[in-house]
Amino acid sequence: PTAAPAPSKTAINLPMVEKGDAQAVVFGYVDDATQADKVKFKNYVAGSACSNCALYQGKAGDDAGGCPLFAGKNVAAKGWCASWAKKA
Ligand code: SF4
Repeated sequence: PTAAPAPSKTAINLPMVEKGDAQAVVFGYVDDATQADKVKFKNYVAGSACSNCALYQGKAGDDAGGCPLFAGKNVAAKGWCASWAKKA
Protein backbone atom coordinates (compact mmCIF):
# COMPACT_ATOMS: atom_id res chain seq x y z
CA PRO A 1 0.00 0.00 0.00
CA THR A 2 1.13 3.52 -0.71
CA ALA A 3 1.82 5.71 2.27
CA ALA A 4 -0.58 8.56 2.90
CA PRO A 5 1.00 11.95 2.37
CA ALA A 6 2.32 13.50 5.55
CA PRO A 7 0.00 16.18 6.87
CA SER A 8 1.36 19.68 6.74
CA LYS A 9 2.87 20.73 10.03
CA THR A 10 0.20 22.62 11.90
CA ALA A 11 -1.15 22.84 15.43
CA ILE A 12 -4.75 22.52 14.30
CA ASN A 13 -5.54 20.18 11.44
CA LEU A 14 -8.12 21.91 9.28
CA PRO A 15 -8.73 21.83 5.55
CA MET A 16 -6.63 24.34 3.65
CA VAL A 17 -8.18 27.40 2.08
CA GLU A 18 -8.00 26.93 -1.68
CA LYS A 19 -7.21 29.75 -4.02
CA GLY A 20 -10.58 29.40 -5.75
CA ASP A 21 -12.71 29.53 -2.57
CA ALA A 22 -15.26 32.35 -2.73
CA GLN A 23 -13.83 33.86 0.46
CA ALA A 24 -10.30 33.53 -0.92
CA VAL A 25 -11.28 35.42 -4.05
CA VAL A 26 -12.84 38.23 -1.98
CA PHE A 27 -9.65 38.66 0.05
CA GLY A 28 -7.26 37.94 -2.80
CA TYR A 29 -5.84 35.00 -0.87
CA VAL A 30 -3.03 33.00 -2.44
CA ASP A 31 -1.18 30.10 -0.83
CA ASP A 32 2.11 31.58 -2.01
CA ALA A 33 2.59 35.25 -1.14
CA THR A 34 4.82 35.80 -4.15
CA GLN A 35 1.77 35.01 -6.32
CA ALA A 36 -0.28 37.85 -4.78
CA ASP A 37 -1.94 40.14 -7.30
CA LYS A 38 0.30 43.14 -6.71
CA VAL A 39 -1.45 45.18 -9.37
CA LYS A 40 -4.88 44.78 -7.79
CA PHE A 41 -3.63 44.92 -4.19
CA LYS A 42 -1.40 47.97 -3.89
CA ASN A 43 -0.99 47.34 -0.17
CA TYR A 44 1.15 44.29 -0.86
CA VAL A 45 4.48 44.60 0.94
CA ALA A 46 7.40 42.46 -0.17
CA GLY A 47 8.13 39.84 2.45
CA SER A 48 4.63 39.87 3.91
CA ALA A 49 2.96 36.51 4.42
CA CYS A 50 0.42 34.89 6.73
CA SER A 51 3.27 33.79 9.01
CA ASN A 52 4.04 37.43 9.84
CA CYS A 53 0.43 38.65 9.83
CA ALA A 54 -1.24 39.83 13.03
CA LEU A 55 -4.28 37.64 12.31
CA TYR A 56 -2.37 34.40 11.76
CA GLN A 57 -2.93 31.79 14.47
CA GLY A 58 -0.28 29.27 13.52
CA LYS A 59 2.87 28.90 15.57
CA ALA A 60 6.33 29.77 14.32
CA GLY A 61 7.53 26.89 12.15
CA ASP A 62 4.04 25.61 11.33
CA ASP A 63 3.26 25.16 7.65
CA ALA A 64 -0.30 26.35 8.13
CA GLY A 65 -2.57 27.84 10.74
CA GLY A 66 -5.94 29.39 11.37
CA CYS A 67 -7.05 32.85 10.34
CA PRO A 68 -10.26 34.49 11.60
CA LEU A 69 -11.13 35.52 8.06
CA PHE A 70 -11.33 31.88 7.04
CA ALA A 71 -13.23 30.13 9.82
CA GLY A 72 -12.76 26.37 9.94
CA LYS A 73 -9.85 26.39 7.53
CA ASN A 74 -6.12 26.83 7.62
CA VAL A 75 -4.13 29.28 5.59
CA ALA A 76 -0.60 28.58 4.42
CA ALA A 77 2.22 30.13 6.43
CA LYS A 78 3.60 31.28 3.09
CA GLY A 79 0.20 32.57 1.98
CA TRP A 80 -1.06 36.11 1.74
CA CYS A 81 -4.29 38.06 1.46
CA ALA A 82 -5.30 41.70 1.08
CA SER A 83 -6.14 41.97 4.80
CA TRP A 84 -2.54 41.30 5.79
CA ALA A 85 -1.54 43.41 8.81
CA LYS A 86 1.94 43.50 10.24
CA LYS A 87 2.33 41.43 13.39
CA ALA A 88 3.26 43.71 16.27
FE1 SF4 B 1 -3.05 35.37 5.92
FE2 SF4 B 1 -3.33 37.52 7.46
FE3 SF4 B 1 -4.78 37.28 5.23
FE4 SF4 B 1 -5.29 35.74 7.32
S1 SF4 B 1 -5.50 37.98 7.23
S2 SF4 B 1 -5.13 35.07 5.17
S3 SF4 B 1 -3.24 35.38 8.16
S4 SF4 B 1 -2.53 37.50 5.36
